[in-house]
Amino acid sequence: MSLLRANASREMTPQEERYFLHLLSGDPMFKDFVRSQAMHGENAAQRIMKQPVCPKCERGAFYHKDGVACSHCGYMGASAHKIRQHIRGGHYR
Ligand SMILES: [Zn+2]
Repeated sequence: MSLLRANASREMTPQEERYFLHLLSGDPMFKDFVRSQAMHGENAAQRIMKQPVCPKCERGAFYHKDGVACSHCGYMGASAHKIRQHIRGGHYR
């Protein structure tokens, strides 16, 4: 994960970084996603921030059919916003 952290420190605020740790404390599927983004280099954090947020556990979810699917808690349905909006809006405390 050091590659992401090296990238991320340029791109993320401390608040964003704290939320990322929460994201990464969840299920391995999202971690794999983050890792694969990080391997593509530039703007990994920005791309990850475009993923939807699971309203139940506040971890990163994936778009699925008309809504989102969370591989951490199994939630399927609507998502209010993306990770970027979740952080910028101060929803994560
Ligand atoms: Zn969830």
